[in-house]
Amino acid sequence: MKKPISIYIHIPFCIKKCQYCDFLSAPADSRTQEEYLRALEGEIRKKAAAYRDYTVKTVYIGGGTPTAVPYEKLCHVLEVLWQAFSIGEEQPMERKISMEVEISMEANPGTVSGEALREYRRAGINRLSIGLQSADDRELARLGRIHSYADFLETYSLAVQAGFQNINVDLMAALPKQKPRDYADTVKKVLFLAPKPTHISAYSLIIEEGTPFYEKYGLEWERRERTGETPLHLPSEEEEREMYRITEKLLKEAGYHRYEISNYSLSGYECRHNKVYWQRGDYVGFGLGAASMVENIRFRNTPDLPCYLREEEKTVERMPLTQKEQMEEFMFLGLRLTEGVEKKAFREYFGVPIEEIYGSVIEENARKGLLKAGDRISLTKKGTDLGSYVSAQFLQ
Ligand code: SF4
Repeated sequence: MKKPISIYIHIPFCIKKCQYCDFLSAPADSRTQEEYLRALEGEIRKKAAAYRDYTVKTVYIGGGTPTAVPYEKLCHVLEVLWQAFSIGEEQPMERKISMEVEISMEANPGTVSGEALREYRRAGINRLSIGLQSADDRELARLGRIHSYADFLETYSLAVQAGFQNINVDLMAALPKQKPRDYADTVKKVLFLAPKPTHISAYSLIIEEGTPFYEKYGLEWERRERTGETPLHLPSEEEEREMYRITEKLLKEAGYHRYEISNYSLSGYECRHNKVYWQRGDYVGFGLGAASMVENIRFRNTPDLPCYLREEEKTVERMPLTQKEQMEEFMFLGLRLTEGVEKKAFREYFGVPIEEIYGSVIEENARKGLLKAGDRISLTKKGTDLGSYVSAQFLQ
């Protein structure tokens, strides 16, 4: 029987760089895009032979902005993927794609037409992740996004008309000058969409070094992180926590289930691809800087575009994980999920009871009210607020 695998495809192009973004993405002319897509297809064809014993269960096309490249060209990459890999079980293609294999793509408002969306559907994409971030045009402008809220509404409606039934909306909290009530307005507007999105991701803004936002707000951000001082432009820690609570409360009332620290879904619509990362399933990444993990070996493609285009061998880093590293990952990734980690699964995977390795960490955190420990180990409500602190203790 074939083993399951997930595939990530990276499209590193955007119309314009957002102010806060440290992803591997940049604007590029059409010639560079074409050259890149050719190299990407070559990489898929070349590497596929190593995965003959696998069947693809999920695909995620991310970026960058995958919808920033011409849709026919992106659909062609998918065709190459279908030819090179075994996708789903032996069923007619239509059925395979619609029912069994989750194929997600990130899309940004202002970069898609109705025709493009219909073609994406035809190419097999059955889940769309739309980057809204905020429903307030002033906040969008501050973020350096290329779209308005009206653009988002148009994209959302076109996606529904094109037949997408599984749509995620990305939101961002703790933006400069944002107050909890502003953030609540954004969440309420998204919940007012008809039909409702099946999935909502809500992350807090992180001011990353090397971004224009770091130039503007880096000092404030660092001082806030270090001393808890109330910053001038960014929300305070208490305001950020309040936004967290707003997300939780409003989404729960609207019928969403929080299955991961920052991810909420309607029943049956958890993102299967992302769960593969958190549950340490095998995945292979194609494209610039794409990361993979197959049979406990992590590897990564070069993040250098000229090098990616030129070199036959795209993989520049290969790191077999020790058992200790595997255990650490099992815990800190698994604890991101609301369901946490299963003690039985740990024992089956590593051949030792979880208590033997992490007994004292689990006990201490359970005593502090941060972990629930039964057949599964998971974060409590208080533990979720201090998620990074709890997870860090499993790394020691
Ligand atoms: S659209 Fe996304 S990937 Fe592109 S610059 Fe903005 S945040 Fe970065």
